[in-house]
Amino acid sequence: MAGQPRYPTIEIYKEVCIRCGACDPACPEDVMRIGADGYPFAKYTEDCQACFLCEWDCPVNAIKISVHKWWEEDQPAA
Ligand code: SF4
Ligand code: SF4
Repeated sequence: MAGQPRYPTIEIYKEVCIRCGACDPACPEDVMRIGADGYPFAKYTEDCQACFLCEWDCPVNAIKISVHKWWEEDQPAA
């Protein structure tokens, strides 16, 4: 929505995650935290710079970072 702050979408697929914890220290912006259940979650999404390091460092491709939703919202109506 115009005028609203826009953050990347951070999706973590628990059904794939092996709870290795690698995505937490991989993030230069300190976005990630590991929950009591061992699964990571994005605690500070507003700090995410969409650098994709967490995605790259995940050994099982359990994270998907996306900025495409911004792009779609910014397109003029046809
Ligand atoms: S994309 Fe980069 S800044 Fe965003 S959560 Fe992942 S490692 Fe952190
Ligand atoms: S790096 Fe991937 S597998 Fe490891 S805790 Fe994070 S999301 Fe789960």
